[in-house]
Amino acid sequence: MSAPLLEVGDLKTYFPIKTGIFKKVNSYVRAVDGISFSLEEGDTLGLVGESGCGKSTTGRSILRLIEPTSGTVKYQGMEITSMDSKQLRKLRKDMQIVFQDPYASLNPRLQIGSIIEEALSTHKIGQNTKERKEMVMDLLEKVGLNRNAYERYPHEFSGGQRQRIGIARAIAVNPKLIIADEPVSALDVSIQAQILNLFQDLQDKMGLTYIFIAHDLSVVKHISDKIGVMYLGRMVEFASKEKLFSNPSHPYTQALMSAVPVPDPTIKKERIILTGDVPNPSNPPSGCTFNPRCSSCMDICTKIAPKPIELSPGHVVSCHLYDTEIL
Ligand code: SF4
Repeated sequence: MSAPLLEVGDLKTYFPIKTGIFKKVNSYVRAVDGISFSLEEGDTLGLVGESGCGKSTTGRSILRLIEPTSGTVKYQGMEITSMDSKQLRKLRKDMQIVFQDPYASLNPRLQIGSIIEEALSTHKIGQNTKERKEMVMDLLEKVGLNRNAYERYPHEFSGGQRQRIGIARAIAVNPKLIIADEPVSALDVSIQAQILNLFQDLQDKMGLTYIFIAHDLSVVKHISDKIGVMYLGRMVEFASKEKLFSNPSHPYTQALMSAVPVPDPTIKKERIILTGDVPNPSNPPSGCTFNPRCSSCMDICTKIAPKPIELSPGHVVSCHLYDTEIL
């Protein structure tokens, strides 16, 4: 059997907190605190959780846009975390990112054509300027934009169109994996659906693998094969979309799930309101970090961190409620 496209093992990314005149490190923000999962080619993993839970840092650490503190990231069996900058540059062609705010990621002084062409020339794609221009025009069409967008500037486009430009730039180099970091969060709901459809359409045509980051389960519901629910730097539940939606098991997943609208308005669903904010990741609660907000919290939850329990093949949850050794 061939290796998974991506294998992440016990990934940790800690940010030091420096204080005093000597800038001494006295604690760490544990932004990503032991994340593990694997992805097959063509899969879409939805990573969800409230802002500050570490999902974006996970995405950036996988690409080494942020240096992870420890753990492994294997792409097609190759260890990324130990690669030098030359090896990494080669690999960047295969792994692209689409950002939440397309406007901030597009140089306002450059025409759209130049922005996308830059990605092509960086990776030495296309024989000459003429060929690259033609490739860019084709890419614009592929993402649903007019070819005349080539000579226009970012400010001339709507939010949805700018996200299409961001996607065109990401797919220009023919990647295998795209990390989409909250790509529809800044868009109107009607536009969100169009962009999600575009992601799906491109996946069908190009065989892309996605890590799709969102704070809302309803956004990742349609596009994901697998879903990872993150809380305070950890993956509290991981399952196929079907298993997660039919049997959400972690109290945090259940709360997120209760906010997902149901298509049939006659079905009444009780909304679980989470009280309090996400705790400070530099000073997380002891035991299970979700314990101050959990309505099922037991005595042990404040003392011992839960370990991952496999409820059924591929469905893993970190919660004492399912630990038969403890209960
Ligand atoms: Fe709630 Fe305890 Fe489970 Fe944490 S381990 S989610 S506090 S029941």
